[in-house]
Amino acid sequence: MRFSEKSKEHLDACRFCWMCRHICPIGNATGLERNTARARALGLSMVARDAVPYSDDIINNVYECATCGACVKECVTGWDPVMFVKEARLGAALDGKLPDYILKLINNFNEKGNIYGKDNDPAIAAAGASAQSDTLFFIGEDARYNTPQNAIEAAELLKKAGVDFTVLDNEPNSGYSMDFMIGAAAETKSVMEECAKVLSKYKTVICYDAADAKVMKREYKEWGIGLNAEVKTFTEFVSGLIKDGKLKVKKSDMCFTPQDSFLLARDLEETEPMRDILNACGCVTEMLLNRKDTMLAGNLIMAEYMGDVMDAVARDRWVNAKNVNAKTVVTQTPAEYAILKRTKPEGIELMTVEEAVLKCL
Ligand code: SF4
Ligand code: SF4
Repeated sequence: MRFSEKSKEHLDACRFCWMCRHICPIGNATGLERNTARARALGLSMVARDAVPYSDDIINNVYECATCGACVKECVTGWDPVMFVKEARLGAALDGKLPDYILKLINNFNEKGNIYGKDNDPAIAAAGASAQSDTLFFIGEDARYNTPQNAIEAAELLKKAGVDFTVLDNEPNSGYSMDFMIGAAAETKSVMEECAKVLSKYKTVICYDAADAKVMKREYKEWGIGLNAEVKTFTEFVSGLIKDGKLKVKKSDMCFTPQDSFLLARDLEETEPMRDILNACGCVTEMLLNRKDTMLAGNLIMAEYMGDVMDAVARDRWVNAKNVNAKTVVTQTPAEYAILKRTKPEGIELMTVEEAVLKCL
């Protein structure tokens, strides 16, 4: 396993100071020291110095990170654990040491075009209004294969606003899940290039899932993958529809508590459109860890190989919501919606952004 000089610098410079220890959603859920950025840096720094082999245990530990960036934000010395985790995953792939549970997801991808190994739900493509428009509504792998009803409702909302859009039956994969599993491998870049070719036929791409918007706006750019279309997040787009009067929302007496996705709040620095939408629909009560300080509430890729831990992560977030007497938690991503839904306690509601808006039209 060879690390880049930049990653080695970040590994070696980690002070093992514990300042990011309390912020890791996985470490908090498991209570295990190995699930902290500090412990992972310690293991990988020994691998980088050839003091220990890149063993199965260290590799498994690398796949226990959600790459949520909470530790990056918190790091007092500016070191980036996400960067070396992604490089360590790439290294495992290049060394032929990927764990079986990751190989299984990659095989699913190669066979079915999605890591969940599921078939397309024809109801999703039927939700697209026009095959000829210059606006593509990009559903993404998580919603398409795990929460299709959410995608159908989101499309319904766009139709109510009079948006002329297309949903593809054979939507390409954005490359987010491959990037999560094996980082900047040639396979990941090739998936992204194929996707960019399709997206470039459109003027605007509205990403339902922030995970797809994140790779299109960040990784495509960083890796020189040309994309002519303008990429917008679903929340940014819907907020614009309300501001322009294309969606006439009536203020209700509902009170919403946003679950900020780290992909939007930290990676894309988008925090206010969701609040603008929810404030138009009712009132907003914040959790203590909000906006850039948000805490992950679930990851569907990790749920494939550490489902119990993902449930514990979501239950921790429900505790945060209950602590502020939240009535209705509103999510921005299909992954967080799916895992919060299966762990939802009694007496508190869960909604997507589109559900909240549809209730207030
Ligand atoms: S990126 Fe997130 S999951 Fe990974 S170590 Fe940092 S806080 Fe924990
Ligand atoms: S990543 Fe930063 S905050 Fe966390 S232990 Fe290392 S130096 Fe400290």
